[in-house]
Amino acid sequence: MVSMTESTYRIQGGTGEWEVVIGLEVHAQITSNAKLFSGASTEFGAEPNTQVSLVDAAMPGMLPVLNKECVRQAVRTGLAINAQINKYSRFDRKNYFYADLPQGYQISQLYHPIVGEGKIEISLDEKNPDAHGKTIGVERIHIEQDAGKLMHDQHPTMSYVDLNRCGVALMEIVSMPDLTSPKEAAAYVRKLRSILRYIGSCDGNMEQGSMRADVNVSVRKPGEKLGTRTETKNVNSMRFIQQVIEYEAQRQVDVIESGGEIVQETRLFDPDRNETRSMRSKEDAHDYRYFPDPDLLPLELEDDFIFDCKASLPELPDEKRARYKNVLGLSAYNAAVLTAEHETALWFEELLETTDKPEEIASSAANWLTSELFGALNKMGLSIEQSPVSPQQAAELLGLIADGTISGKIAKQVFEIMLETGDGATKIVEEKGLKQESDTGAIEKVIADVMASNEDKVAQYRGGKDKLFGFFVGQTMKAMQGKANPQVVNELLKKVLGDAG
Ligand code: ADP
Ligand code: MG
Repeated sequence: MVSMTESTYRIQGGTGEWEVVIGLEVHAQITSNAKLFSGASTEFGAEPNTQVSLVDAAMPGMLPVLNKECVRQAVRTGLAINAQINKYSRFDRKNYFYADLPQGYQISQLYHPIVGEGKIEISLDEKNPDAHGKTIGVERIHIEQDAGKLMHDQHPTMSYVDLNRCGVALMEIVSMPDLTSPKEAAAYVRKLRSILRYIGSCDGNMEQGSMRADVNVSVRKPGEKLGTRTETKNVNSMRFIQQVIEYEAQRQVDVIESGGEIVQETRLFDPDRNETRSMRSKEDAHDYRYFPDPDLLPLELEDDFIFDCKASLPELPDEKRARYKNVLGLSAYNAAVLTAEHETALWFEELLETTDKPEEIASSAANWLTSELFGALNKMGLSIEQSPVSPQQAAELLGLIADGTISGKIAKQVFEIMLETGDGATKIVEEKGLKQESDTGAIEKVIADVMASNEDKVAQYRGGKDKLFGFFVGQTMKAMQGKANPQVVNELLKKVLGDAG
């Protein structure tokens, strides 16, 4: 494991420094039209209890039928994190009573999960991820059912239940306790989310609850054995995950340093107060009376099925980033930024497809994307899929800069007009007369005028005040409304003015 450059995260206690240890259990809703064991729809935002089949409502005698698509997505996810795929897995019943769980048990996989150990590369350094990477182990991924949702705010004295989510397929992705700071935990979730979205096994929408984490935290003195952990349930934003870790680590240090002991328990996060509260003491597996679900056969995967899952994977973020850097010659930073989200990478690649020699335009296109396009989209509050300018239109604009038709400065102006009107760059340049003047004769004439009306400055320049060169460039560009080719202006000025002093 490579060490992080950022100084190691430590809690400063009265008795010295404390290390923080974090393991995350991420629940990711599997992208699938139907639920894990029924044909009911999984669409988000429907009227309560309109997407509940007899299986989801646990009517007597109903039998679960495994949704193959969910299995496929879990296997693809395992392959995407280089995990071991278990050709034999099995479903268990995890028994507990709660009003949002009509079955009285959740079907999960305790003893034989579908995916074994894997790993995820993370980095805290966005500018140069390769130099400061760290490998986080994934212990397992198993498939399980989601529960329904209780609604306590609909009626003054009663609670309602919405079973739409009941039976929706989840992957539980369990990390090793390899994370050691709030930032690392966030980087891990960000990377995991990116991978899931690349392969399309989960939409990663944290606001809608498609991705949420149980956050396990413990503290220890550096070098000592692992401390007792607490688990904070259902944390549903990147910011909250970090807040939970900060709060919980500090709380544990305070408890231990004042002579107390950490008890293994389940806690809840209250974002309004930014604190965690004890919910219940931690149950062990035996509290749930786990046993193999008698309604479901063990799941046995064929080699062909796994092979097809593998073949269906797109180029993944790490591979793509390496290719952008090594083949397309992008800076480490641009390669990282453009591959963080699949949509961004696809947009960029569509732009490159407009040419036979992508290496030649890749760097300038990447610079333009990360500064101009991202800046504009940011201002407008749009995602890249909603960009008013298409990759082909961007290619046209970049082409005009590359062949000297317009300067980079004028290009900014043209881009603004493209965003407003949706017109193509060539059309705008022609209509507005923004074409760059590279004709030496025309530029020489303007230079002569500038020199004639600034004789004193010409004398000063020739007398040694070489800083005045910029003044002449500025005056010439101004006289030509910014449309002169700056390179030609520079060359001609040097020729006419001669060397300073
Ligand atoms: P359970 O099934 O009871 O939740 P696991 O052993 O599967 O327990 O661990 C759950 C999560 O807790 C994993 O992500 C693991 O990395 C993390 N974890 C285990 N021990 C510790 C610890 N001492 N401190 C922080 N996290 C831990
Ligand atoms: Mg757990």
